[in-house]
Amino acid sequence: MHCSHPEHRHGSTEMLGRLEFSCAERGLRLTRLRRRVFELIAASERPVKAYDLMDQIRGQGSGPAAPPTVYRALDFLMVHGFVHRLETLNAYVPCPHPEAESHGSQFLICEQCKQVLELELVEAAAQLRVEARARGFEPHRHVIEIYGLCATCQPAR
Ligand SMILES: [Zn+2]
Ligand SMILES: [Zn+2]
Repeated sequence: MHCSHPEHRHGSTEMLGRLEFSCAERGLRLTRLRRRVFELIAASERPVKAYDLMDQIRGQGSGPAAPPTVYRALDFLMVHGFVHRLETLNAYVPCPHPEAESHGSQFLICEQCKQVLELELVEAAAQLRVEARARGFEPHRHVIEIYGLCATCQPAR
């Protein structure tokens, strides 16, 4: 990962370690495919699309990779907050703080280089939940996507 943000400076190996730890701690079953899917997402510098995952898994011949099983693995990773799906890009990114269980997430997405940074705005997330409940709505999760230009891609002022 080539990212200047300190919270992203950990490699995919470290993220895999945290996934294994979190699954063990929460009693979740980490199958080979779930682990492999997470590994591919964590190793990528850009958000990953489901069909790219299927291509890579098929190309390596690491077990069965029928689309439904890959989608089920993605669902597992998403429900437990290990990866997030960027709805408008329809692509997945690893969560830098998976121990936070499923949580709301806010993303800064660079329109030019597609670099993604996840923010962890606890207060903003709490406020969104309060506002939703005040309207009789029970929120499960949220994904806020903020589009713009990252520091590197902005033209010099
Ligand atoms: Zn997250
Ligand atoms: Zn950029």
